[in-house]
Amino acid sequence: MIAAAVRQIAIAVDGPASSGKGTVARRVANRLGFQLVDTGAMYRTVALAALRADVDLNDAAAVEQIARGIRFRFAFNGGDLTVEADGEDVTEVIRDQPVGAAASIVATHAGVRTALLGLQRALGAGGGVVMDGRDIGTVVLPSAELKVYLDASLDARAERRWRQLPDGDFEQVRAELAERDRRDTSRAIAPLACADEAVRIDTTGIGVESVVEFIVTLAKARQAR
Ligand code: C5P
Repeated sequence: MIAAAVRQIAIAVDGPASSGKGTVARRVANRLGFQLVDTGAMYRTVALAALRADVDLNDAAAVEQIARGIRFRFAFNGGDLTVEADGEDVTEVIRDQPVGAAASIVATHAGVRTALLGLQRALGAGGGVVMDGRDIGTVVLPSAELKVYLDASLDARAERRWRQLPDGDFEQVRAELAERDRRDTSRAIAPLACADEAVRIDTTGIGVESVVEFIVTLAKARQAR
């Protein structure tokens, strides 16, 4: 029997906040033995550093300088992603809600995006990678072999997020999510968008495992091409 060579493809996973893309991307990467690159974690890390330095998040030049100075390290072991910035493990702290809100502000600055773009492309260059974010299929890896856009209704996403928060107020969670959607889709540079050739999956009411299974099937078909 002649074994066909398996291609090291790149998979782009985009979608709005709480569409499930982080979980889905992690599980798909784990199933395929691919590297996971969480680009949202990069923006969150820049936001964390800016908040800690007490820098005005709207000061594009100052935030860009911070972004350019961070040394990132990603380790993906056994399905868990660890994010290090300048030697500090920031995996947990960047998940805090204020950091997420700040991330969507710093992500509007062109200089910040350019600072992270080179790193993102370098990580995606060799294939064998699942990269998730907002602009992966459209800007970061336009020639990714598989592009997926995950979506879900605002209510479904707000409910998912609200269930993760110990004492969150549903209406507030929903309003904050709507505000992040507005910022992510309306910014001038690399707005959240579904690439023309992306497979669009509405995850409202669909379990994570079904979505993962579907993407793994698509990926294996692309690898065999
Ligand atoms: O995906 P996550 O919620 O961790 O992303 C945090 C913020 O980073 C998003 O709200 C978005 O504004 C920004 N982001 C981005 N481009 C990406 C990934 C994230 O603008 N590729």
